[in-house]
Amino acid sequence: MTFNATLDSIKTYEAGLPIELVVREYGISKDAVVKLASNENPLGASKKAIEAIIKVAQDAHFYPDDSMYALKEALAKHFNVAKDTLIIGAGSDQILEFCLHAKANHTSKVLMAKTTFAMYEIYAKAIGAEIIRTPSPTHNLEEFLDAYSLHKPAIIFLCTPNNPLGECLDAKEIFDFLRQIDSNCLVVIDGAYQEYAKAKDSNKALDPKALIHTFSNVIYTGTFSKVYGLGGMRIGYGIANPTIIQALAKLRPPFNVTTPSLAAALAALKDKAHLKKSIENNLEQMPLFENFAKEKGFKFTPSYANFIAYYFNTPINSTEIAEHLFKQGMIIRNLASYGLNAIRITIGTPKQNEKFFTLFNTYLKQK
Ligand SMILES: *Cc1c(COP(=O)(O)O)cnc(C)c1O
Repeated sequence: MTFNATLDSIKTYEAGLPIELVVREYGISKDAVVKLASNENPLGASKKAIEAIIKVAQDAHFYPDDSMYALKEALAKHFNVAKDTLIIGAGSDQILEFCLHAKANHTSKVLMAKTTFAMYEIYAKAIGAEIIRTPSPTHNLEEFLDAYSLHKPAIIFLCTPNNPLGECLDAKEIFDFLRQIDSNCLVVIDGAYQEYAKAKDSNKALDPKALIHTFSNVIYTGTFSKVYGLGGMRIGYGIANPTIIQALAKLRPPFNVTTPSLAAALAALKDKAHLKKSIENNLEQMPLFENFAKEKGFKFTPSYANFIAYYFNTPINSTEIAEHLFKQGMIIRNLASYGLNAIRITIGTPKQNEKFFTLFNTYLKQK
């Protein structure tokens, strides 16, 4: 059978390896496996979110509330925006996909940083759009402006903080950049890790309300998968001018977000104490990872998210490290698929991080 030629250039997304794989392959018990691979919240979900999921289980036979009334109310209040500026998706991934379908086609160009979230490319290629990347791996807005002038893209993706490298643009430079972009170009600002960034440095704090009230062509996306600890629930959101939201809403399948996901997100959003604890753990533990890298002489990008990327020089090899740690029940992310001799480690609990340092140290000593 033949498929759309657009698929030929797409590499299947390499998700963080599941814990079950280590259990199956190496007989390590599930509890002993440490997964620092997918930027999940190491403290888990809010207890209140878990209770909310259990509570709605009895409604499993009903379709979800397709208006998503309660969560939209809560998000509107949280961001101080009107409800008609919100769209909720099965992960913010789904919102990104809607953006591509709503705005681009096979004649379009889509602009992004050289090393950034892999789904932008996959969704863009799926519709046959051409990918334009800036020369630097991390976000450089002068390079974005140059590429924008030259290529006139239909969509620009800014991932800030950027996955997988961790750098983050200042809010001010983003606003300055957006002033130079035509209002018919859709700019997607992916804020999957914004909660961490703004806790670390107030210059990084992006206010979605100010963004969308100043720029009619910007959509801000956020997720419950990372600091809110609900990766398994698949729920995220977009905030934009109602004109954009109405266009995306045409593409949204009915009942795209499940009842447990809606209930969990609502509870998680309200549990400010769990959010605070999660952010504090990250702020406290991140310096240990920076110090470890300095001690060992690895380069790293200072990170504003809940992960850090270490870069290696030969003979140290990221694939070998990832495989070695994997066999010991420690799952981290190899960045070889991004063309880098680097790994990305999610910041875990103090105990998990200690285990990572110990295992990695042992590995380095026997090299
Ligand atoms: C994790 C992540 C997302 C989306 O996650 P969902 O689980 O689909 O909400 C989006 N962008 C970036 C940069 C991410 O790292």
